[in-house]
Amino acid sequence: MSHLFYLSTAQRPVLDRAEGIYMWDRTGRRFIDGSSGAMVSNIGHSNPAVLAAMRAQMERATFGYRLHFETEPGEQLAAKVASLSPEGMEKVFFVSGGSEAVESAVKLARQWAVVSGQASRWKVISRFPCYHGSTLGALALTGYDPLTDPFRPMMVAMPKIPAPRAWLDGLNPDDPATGAHYAAMLEAQILAEGPETVLAFIQEPVGGASIGALVPPAGYMAAVRAICDKYGILLIHDEVMSGGGRVGRFLGGDLWGVVPDIVAISKGFGAGYAPLGAMVAQSRIVDAVQAAGGFLHGHTYAGNPLACAAGLAVLEEIERGGLMGNAARAGAVLKARLAALMQRYGFIGDVRGEGMLLAFEIVSNRKTREPLPPGLKAFDDLVERAYAEGLIIYSRRSRGGYAGDHFLVCPPMITTEAQVDEIMEKLDRALDGFAAAHAGLLP
Ligand code: PMP
Repeated sequence: MSHLFYLSTAQRPVLDRAEGIYMWDRTGRRFIDGSSGAMVSNIGHSNPAVLAAMRAQMERATFGYRLHFETEPGEQLAAKVASLSPEGMEKVFFVSGGSEAVESAVKLARQWAVVSGQASRWKVISRFPCYHGSTLGALALTGYDPLTDPFRPMMVAMPKIPAPRAWLDGLNPDDPATGAHYAAMLEAQILAEGPETVLAFIQEPVGGASIGALVPPAGYMAAVRAICDKYGILLIHDEVMSGGGRVGRFLGGDLWGVVPDIVAISKGFGAGYAPLGAMVAQSRIVDAVQAAGGFLHGHTYAGNPLACAAGLAVLEEIERGGLMGNAARAGAVLKARLAALMQRYGFIGDVRGEGMLLAFEIVSNRKTREPLPPGLKAFDDLVERAYAEGLIIYSRRSRGGYAGDHFLVCPPMITTEAQVDEIMEKLDRALDGFAAAHAGLLP
């Protein structure tokens, strides 16, 4: 009997070791980590330079409480993050995961409003669907019914606007009118709430697991920034998944040159070597809060020197190996190969994403974008078929929870083009099996 429990009831093999993009279970069976875990292992597993940096730090100190000590790796990592972030985003607050980063961002925003004489502002508008974390504060921002439903009475309801799913809504993502259409929904929501009550708008620049690598339509990002500025509302970017280099830039917002007020990063930032995340904020916000007595927030393990040493070594490896460039290049090859599958499989409705944050969505009708019948359990079926081929991909329902099936194909940023071939061979076999098993039901 296992004493562990988790959100899934599926039995999984026991992990033995992992190296590069490969993982082996205790029986010696090999898997390709085609989703970098949950879009975490950005530079692959067992990177020798990161392990060496962690070992060296372990010999010096693994923990120093933040009220008692600054640490060298913490200071160096904060400086590095600031140098990689847009102009003005110079203040870094470490945490140990994505939900913590989002909670920190929202609490910093609120404290800034209070100290700057805008205490009426508390609502945080988010998009539907979206995922911002599993703690109750971050969950209140999350738009994903199966995860939020049971907890609704315990959370403060936060306003939601539709995510800019141009493909699903049958709109042209390259037409700036499409971006303007979705951005107008933000403005309408702000006006409906009363602008003086709205604290922030939070969004994932390149959408994560709940929406499957959604890339916003033309003009959307700049329009959202302008609307936030017009009403004095803070723009928070949740880059827990898209940040850290996976999209070919350090932050997803960089793809559009849009500078948020606060950004949350995690996952690929620690890259699976240590639980690590960060909130990065504009100096003017942090300075105001610090001047009023300091940020009223903290997590005990945050910014411990071992996690920071790992994070610093990860960023150095990304720079040394030119891995953001590789994510963009090999990601483009992988995306083209996924798009080519649409000619073979009529049930693939959309292929989307940036860099190595890619997804495809399967439908029962490509023209109407109708989802497959839930009874088909395509969601689990295709993932299991890929797993049987030794390929790990990541799936979620995409229409807010109960309908739609998308699959994230997000291997580590070190993936070579030869390894893209290997991934595609396995995925193709899984799709073939899926097509054959459900022949009568698929387009
Ligand atoms: N935000 C986004 C966009 C995420 O993808 C996730 C994790 N899937 C989180 C927040 C929460 O991160 P964590 O699981 O590390 O708390």
